[in-house]
Amino acid sequence: MDQELKSEGKCFYCDGYFSQAEIGKHVAKHLVQTEKGDAGKNHSNYVHIEVEANEMFLHLLVKGNSPMKTIDIFLRKIWLECCGHMSEFEHKNFKISMEHRVEEVFQPRVKIFHDYDFGTTTRVFLKARKHYQLNLKEKIMLLSRNEPLKLMCVSCKTEPAINICTVCCYQEMAFFCEKCSKKHAETCEDFADYANTPIVNSPRMGECGYTGGTIDIERDGVYKIK
Ligand SMILES: [Zn+2]
Ligand SMILES: [Zn+2]
Ligand SMILES: [Zn+2]
Ligand SMILES: [Zn+2]
Repeated sequence: MDQELKSEGKCFYCDGYFSQAEIGKHVAKHLVQTEKGDAGKNHSNYVHIEVEANEMFLHLLVKGNSPMKTIDIFLRKIWLECCGHMSEFEHKNFKISMEHRVEEVFQPRVKIFHDYDFGTTTRVFLKARKHYQLNLKEKIMLLSRNEPLKLMCVSCKTEPAINICTVCCYQEMAFFCEKCSKKHAETCEDFADYANTPIVNSPRMGECGYTGGTIDIERDGVYKIK
């Protein structure tokens, strides 16, 4: 992968940008403040959960008494859903049911994973950070997400890539801008036929004809040169 591929996300609270390594600690500061402000009000237990797939990440705040299904549905909407495949959460030692409560599963530092589609599987990792007592209406909130990664066209190397050839990508990097996509279609029959799928901000990119999420769409596109 591109050596320069660095990943950063915007903070939901203050709109600042932070690296993948820093953003978790950063949003935690806001959560501590919010918890202080909510003291004495009606509050519920919330869990800060980090989801990762290499350079792609999400920071979620999830109401503790929600079932795991709540996270499954969210992951499908933002990152995964192509054609209604099955999915499950798993810990290295045991399976986790969709009815399990989030706060019971995510004890401090617990790491689990989620598999979507048992054929061409997309696996993402979830890690518990801290629990907070908060006065919120939402059951699940997105606190940060990686901005589209800097995936450039492998042919011209000057334009951001917008398509991936899902056949050639098994041999080589096969990310193309619009112009180079046309050229690739002249030499790659599969690409011209069916193997052209869009670059999206998701670990399911290029799998099973995945074309993007249904929420947070403004950050689901391709890299934009600033
Ligand atoms: Zn912030
Ligand atoms: Zn599918
Ligand atoms: Zn190009
Ligand atoms: Zn191709």
